[in-house]
Amino acid sequence: MEWAVITTWEMSLKGCGITAEALRHQENLDEAVMKGINDVEDNPEYHSVGFGGGPDREGHVRCDGGFMDGDTLHFGAVGSMEGFRSAVRVAHGLVKGDANNFLVGPGAEKFAAEHGFERRDNLTEESKKSWEEEVEKRKKPLSAYDGHDTVCFLGMQNGRCVAATSTSGLFMKEPGRVGDTPLPGNGFYADSEIGAAAGTGMGEEIMKGALSFAAVLYMKQGYTAQEAADKAVMTLDQSLKKRNGYAQPMSLIVMDKEGNFGVGTNIEFTFCTASSQSGPTLYKAMPSEEGAVITKA
Ligand code: ASP
Repeated sequence: MEWAVITTWEMSLKGCGITAEALRHQENLDEAVMKGINDVEDNPEYHSVGFGGGPDREGHVRCDGGFMDGDTLHFGAVGSMEGFRSAVRVAHGLVKGDANNFLVGPGAEKFAAEHGFERRDNLTEESKKSWEEEVEKRKKPLSAYDGHDTVCFLGMQNGRCVAATSTSGLFMKEPGRVGDTPLPGNGFYADSEIGAAAGTGMGEEIMKGALSFAAVLYMKQGYTAQEAADKAVMTLDQSLKKRNGYAQPMSLIVMDKEGNFGVGTNIEFTFCTASSQSGPTLYKAMPSEEGAVITKA
């Protein structure tokens, strides 16, 4: 395949198409992937990413994002950053260089301001309202998974792989909480000699198994993208259930360096793909003992 893209959740279908269109016109891979993610970040209907994202306990939308260049293994990441349009673009701005690649909070915001990244308060009237309602409801306990989903894109163009992520993290998270999304090896990983992976779900679970790195390592050992995705998620899922009696939601998208896709999940999960051989398509993956069962959605 000349190029391929795989993205998390149904909310990314339009963005997947935007990236596909850019790659079809041989645009730069990084820009093509960021354009697709921006479509999700800019949409206030999606309450887990960018504009209209879920506020933290203090009512602030603080975002995480990451980007990795599979050729150099250089990465950039931001955590708990407030007041900017696109976490993935600021993360991408940190990719160059061998130090200061991962900035959080005020440091990330200072970098973004100094480098002219577009500002935006991601708190919308609607996200403020849901926060206010939640503050009321908080008088009773709430499941930690309520109200989040990360947009992840894996792209391949002529053998070069990248991984990119963006999220507002857990709704009502503690101020300063950073999930797996900006952590290389956990929320994303790309190595053009092997392939790439990215995760969505409960960040604190994904970090226990360094899921994205695990999947890439399985591919290095000879597993296909689908086998690697299943093996990474199922191994961690079973290990957590054995130790703790339960495992929280985790889903992983994987792509090998040829552009073949794989998905692993322990919950119902939707994802989208497009490539030089097929148009943007939405799929559903269901967990099973043998691995993810994938159907067109
Ligand atoms: N992984 C994200 C986090 O923990 C949330 C999600 O993807 O659902 O912040």
